[in-house]
Amino acid sequence: MYFLEKYTALCYTHSMASIISFSNQKGGVGKTTTCVNLATALALRGKRVLIVDFDAQCNASSALGEFDKQPKHSVYSVLCDNLSAKQAVRKTDIENLSFIPSSCDLAGAELELSQIVIGRERVLQDKLSEIDEDFDYIFIDCPPSLGLLTVNALTASSGVIVPIQSEYYALEGLSQMMNTIKLVKKFLNKELEVVGVVLTMFDGRSKLAKGVLDEILKFFGNKVYDTKIPRNIRLAEAPSYGKPVALYDKRCAGALAYDALAEEFLSKE
Ligand code: ATP
Ligand code: MG
Repeated sequence: MYFLEKYTALCYTHSMASIISFSNQKGGVGKTTTCVNLATALALRGKRVLIVDFDAQCNASSALGEFDKQPKHSVYSVLCDNLSAKQAVRKTDIENLSFIPSSCDLAGAELELSQIVIGRERVLQDKLSEIDEDFDYIFIDCPPSLGLLTVNALTASSGVIVPIQSEYYALEGLSQMMNTIKLVKKFLNKELEVVGVVLTMFDGRSKLAKGVLDEILKFFGNKVYDTKIPRNIRLAEAPSYGKPVALYDKRCAGALAYDALAEEFLSKE
């Protein structure tokens, strides 16, 4: 009887979400665009996805229709005000896609977290553990820095996706970021791996983009996704309407590229 109960319990236990950080301390490389549009493409394929906007700029939140930069229930209140993650989750117009908005207050969270004596790197991990059975994927949109917020994101994650803009300075700072990932892996989270590297704003005809791609392939090898995200004006326009690109213009080159990336991402899981 005991074993039967145990077996039945196992059958009904939902598996835990795979938590992935979108990180690169370089600014403006396509972290938010990739996080929002890959999440959307996965949700449209039936996956239950949560986006955590972990940047005080609130770009992922506005790309999902929340233009208030100080919403009452935000990731800041989850980290610093004892709000549960469940209470902060919002639905979007896309079935299966939810998000936790950010707030401009998050800019002060690093300082508040730094005053916690034990476990300051694990606050987000602890909070997300309350909801990780409700989703297949939790995507964290990181800020362009390697401070305590990013360390919290990396500690909570099993994987990192690194968006890289195909430009001359693309590799600058990457070794510093890889070092942070190595340290988090060593001291805080043994599971952490780079799951993929995405080239964004890619122009396959330019010599420069090809050169950057060669350098990135040397650095990351088979972690680099075959799917490249082209420079596409629709991707840049969509957030101003509070929409992921698939709802703004589902046939544009940017939407098709993120759909192809979703397929490649799932094939590598
Ligand atoms: P930050 O470091 O400030 O958080 P980020 O790395 O999240 O920036 P995004 O906000 O995604 O970068 O992109 C930077 C800018 O480039 C935005 O205005 C965005 O709309 C635009 N952009 C991103 N990807 C593309 C693309 N493939 N084609 C055209 N514009 C793009
Ligand atoms: Mg961003």
